[in-house]
Order: sequence, then structure tokens, then C-alpha cells
Amino acid sequence: MSARRRITDLSPAELSAFASAQHQRPFRGQQIYDWVMGRGVCTTSAMSDLSKPLREALDAEFDCSAPRVLWSGDSASGTEKAFLQLSDAQGDGVEAVLIMEGERTTACISSQAGCPVACVFCASGVLGLRRNLTRGEILDQFIAVRERAQALGRRVSNIVVMGMGEPMLNYSAVVEALDVIHDPKGGGIGARHITISTVGLEKGVRRLTEEGKPYTLAFSLHAPNDELRRKLVPFAAAMDIDAMVQAAGAYLDGTGREVTFEYVLLDGVNASAADAHELAQRLRGVRGTVNLIPYNENPGFTWKRPPAQQVDQFAEILRSGGVKVSVRKRKGHRILAACGQLRLQEMQRAQ
Ligand code: SAH
Repeated sequence: MSARRRITDLSPAELSAFASAQHQRPFRGQQIYDWVMGRGVCTTSAMSDLSKPLREALDAEFDCSAPRVLWSGDSASGTEKAFLQLSDAQGDGVEAVLIMEGERTTACISSQAGCPVACVFCASGVLGLRRNLTRGEILDQFIAVRERAQALGRRVSNIVVMGMGEPMLNYSAVVEALDVIHDPKGGGIGARHITISTVGLEKGVRRLTEEGKPYTLAFSLHAPNDELRRKLVPFAAAMDIDAMVQAAGAYLDGTGREVTFEYVLLDGVNASAADAHELAQRLRGVRGTVNLIPYNENPGFTWKRPPAQQVDQFAEILRSGGVKVSVRKRKGHRILAACGQLRLQEMQRAQ
């Protein structure tokens, strides 16, 4: 990381304390926050209602550059992908995606550079974990995507922490960033429109439940039984299915929010009618929705997405078994929008 903190790393309280230390009234801190998080302006020269000495002090103390972003757009699929360069790692960066679908405009953001979980079908884990992102680096992604959405005449309505990384391994930075995204003076996104996706790490899930934040919790399930799940998600710390089901109940009790179970459909692996029946059986009576995600094929990976008809059949079997289901539409495959694909490509190009 660069020696200086990013301006987006500071909380409103820290900004007020900084203003006070500069012999300015503390409300100046809120003004800076309004510029950065409310309007997405990091560059101090644009902060016209602040004194020159305060702006100079900010520049001396913090990195106030605009996030460095490479965009690869695909207007035909309604998906645009940002690659945000990390200040400490030449050529490396993280991904954020803008997904525009009907009324909904979703920002998909990353929690880590790389990922230590290494789900067998996912590009994010191929190079392992580089490091956790700071809260500011997470907010930089939101700012970049929000600006892009605005330029396209859209307003970000939803946030999903479904980019690179395992959010529960970077809990504080992720939740602090989401709190800013949720704050009416920050991103102004309703808590119900914010989703955190995890392979299920007990400590983080418990903490989120206890804190009672009404964000949507999504478990990456991907299999109807633990034996297959361990093969697809070979991360020793990941919870087993029983523990996830139990945690889903506790989350509903604690926050009033039903969880989502994500299930990436991989042809010939977990997408047969028998798998669907087993899953329906396993989730009988569990309150929550299964989100079926037909696999986004990755160059260099041999996993395949099942035919559309099979996806429909899988969904139908779950519905007949009394399980609530949604199916993710095919989005962004043309610009490699699945987690980690773009970064992998950029890194391979740089080598
Ligand atoms: N580590 C967290 C969040 C990041 S991944 C988690 O696993 O939940 C967000 C979701 O995208 C996960 O369910 C993941 O399995 C899925 N995913 C990863 N690569 C994919 C691909 N190529 N196609 C479809 N979904 C993918």
C-alpha cells in the first residue's frame, strides 16, 4: 500500500478530527465527506467551499487522486467492467462491475485483491490472495461505478459484494465501506439493496448477525451435499451445509432478512435433476431463496454452463419442492464479468 492513506479511507469522525487538528471547525470534516462520498470528488482543487490551507493540508496528508480505472464496456449486454489499479502493485488491481438490467442498476464490488478460497471454477483464486482491500479501496470502486452509471443516465440501486475476494476475511473494511454506501449522506443505498456474499465463515457470519445490520446475506452453496461442496469449495474454514442452514435461521431471527443461497450451475457436476431433487430435500422448510447462477465460462477453465432447458428444469424441481428460486440472467459474459476473470487476463497480459 502507498504510505499515505486514501482520502476515501477516512470516516466522517476522522475527517472532523483532521479539520480540528488544522484549526478548522469540525463541520469542515463533514464537508469533505460530502465531496468525497456524496459527490465522488476526491481531488481537492474541486472542493470549492474549503479554504486553500485546508485543501493543501489534505493533499499533504492523504492520497486525494481520483481512483485509476480502466473501463471495458459492453453496452449490448448492459454490463461495464472497471479495473481499478492498486497503488502498491504495478499492473495489479481489482474489479468492479456495473450491471444494468431493466430498472435495476447494480454495482458488484470486490473485497480483496485475489482470493484465498480458491473455488475450483472461479478465476479470482487462481493467483491466490494478494491482500485485503482497505475500506477506501472498496469505496473507490463504488465511486467509480456510480460515476459511470450517472454518465449513462442511471442511478446505482443495488450493491453486491460479489466481486473478487471473501468479504468475511476482510470484515471490518467491508462493513465500514457498506455503512458509508448505505449512509444517506454517502451512497444513499437502502440496506435491503445491499448484499454480502460468502462461502460461509462462521466468525464473520455470526458477527454480522449479532450486529443486526439489515444487509442481505448470501451463502455460496453450489452443491446439495457436503461431499460435493468440499470438492468445489475446498476451503477448510467454510461452514458445512447444516451450519449454513442454521445460520440462515439465526440471521432471519436477528435481522428480519431472509438469506439467499447462491448455486452456480456447472454442467455434469451439480446441475442434474437428481442434484435438484437432493437440494430441494435438503432445503425443505428453510426460509430463503436459491439464486441459480448458470456458470460464466472462463477461458482456461474446462467447466461448462448447462443448457438453458436444464437450468429451467433444475429451477422447476426446486419450486415443486417448495423452495423459492430465482435464476440469474446471462450478463456480462462477453466482457468476462465473472469474478476475477478480467484481473487474470490483465495480469497474464502484463507478464
Ligand atoms: N467469496 C464470496 C464472494 C465472491 S464470489 C463468495 O464466494 O460468495 C460471488 C459469487 O460468484 C459466488 O457465488 C461465486 O461462486 C460466483 N462465481 C464465481 N465465478 C463464477 C463464474 N465464472 N460464473 C458464475 N458465478 C461465479
